[in-house]
Amino acid sequence: MGKHCKKNQLKKFRDSSLDQPLRAGALYVHVPLCLSKCRYCDFYSLPAKPGQGDFVVSSLLDELAMRRDSLAQELRSIFVGGGTPTALGAKPLEKLLGALAQLASPGLTEFTVEANPATVDNTIAAVASGAGVNRVSLGAQSFDAGQLKLLGRRHQPGQIGQAFEMLRRAGIENISLDLIYGIPGQSASSWLNSLAQALSLGPSHVSCYSLSFEPGTELFDDRQAGRVAEVDDETQREMYYRAIDHLAQARFEHYEISNFAKPARQCEQNLTYWRNREYLGIGPAACSYLAGERRTNLPNLHRYIEHIERGTAPPHHTERIVGRAAMAETLMLGLRLVEGVDIASFAERFGQGPQETFPQSFLRYISLGAVERIATHLRIGREFLFTADTILADILAEA
Ligand code: SF4
Repeated sequence: MGKHCKKNQLKKFRDSSLDQPLRAGALYVHVPLCLSKCRYCDFYSLPAKPGQGDFVVSSLLDELAMRRDSLAQELRSIFVGGGTPTALGAKPLEKLLGALAQLASPGLTEFTVEANPATVDNTIAAVASGAGVNRVSLGAQSFDAGQLKLLGRRHQPGQIGQAFEMLRRAGIENISLDLIYGIPGQSASSWLNSLAQALSLGPSHVSCYSLSFEPGTELFDDRQAGRVAEVDDETQREMYYRAIDHLAQARFEHYEISNFAKPARQCEQNLTYWRNREYLGIGPAACSYLAGERRTNLPNLHRYIEHIERGTAPPHHTERIVGRAAMAETLMLGLRLVEGVDIASFAERFGQGPQETFPQSFLRYISLGAVERIATHLRIGREFLFTADTILADILAEA
């Protein structure tokens, strides 16, 4: 009996995506350098020192060579993020992007580089374009000088438009702008003003993130010490839903909780994450998801370079994501998409549908109207998108 149950469970909770040895169709490269540390940022990045870009790029390319076998022949997307890749300087950036361009094949639809407006000039724009980069994600964050200063950003509002134009002139049409709302002292009208200025540039994609106060950041300490106050929930909620309306009027499709795209301009790399598909991550702090295993390089540049120079894998930790954990992650990520999770695809992948797997969470949230079943999909209701993180955390807890 015990044996029978175990066999059934294994069959039930198998992840059919693991039946074939899959290779990653998406590559992420983490450049761990920035001009300086922003006051709200908890990503792994260090202030760049002169000459450091060359060492970092050599190490990244060495790790890529070590792990090349994990990549599919046909990559769908390459994303160079960080950190600030454009803070490497033109020559190291050219070397990095040139090497990554060698991986391009006809199936590669997206080659993105993240950029800080303060680091974009005509040379950097030409380097990116010359290497085949066809998408830039520009960290605009706000068009208010005081808010940028409070965030510790290095750019002025005017530099956003200048960077945008330089990239466009270099031939990069697909430009995404990142914006932050809920900045201390920001009103709803100030937020909408930033959004309007962003839209006036003609981006193809906009990401709107609420400011979070992460432990270990200067802004977190400021809040703890009472030097800044969080924007209240109601105002943040208003900012979020008014942004959705404005972006809809400007013909952007709202396709993920925080992301909006012009037709056919959804971020392919991020769709890989939200669909819980395989990707390879290179660089300190980079994460990979391959064959049911999440592997995260340790966030330590010094040790990273040391190991790579010795010809050994950089220090990392791994975690098996199988069974109910894989199902919960797939749901958590998929429900971030506004279209939601395709019930049949989920059942095909795992041998069981989402509602059968997590009955308590779905019973509760469907009865509240927070989760809706629309034909073939389960999705988060519009009025609950702002608080989606709570719902997603509950589903994960039921795993
Ligand atoms: S530029 Fe981006 S990655 Fe670098 S410190 Fe600022 S927020 Fe963090």
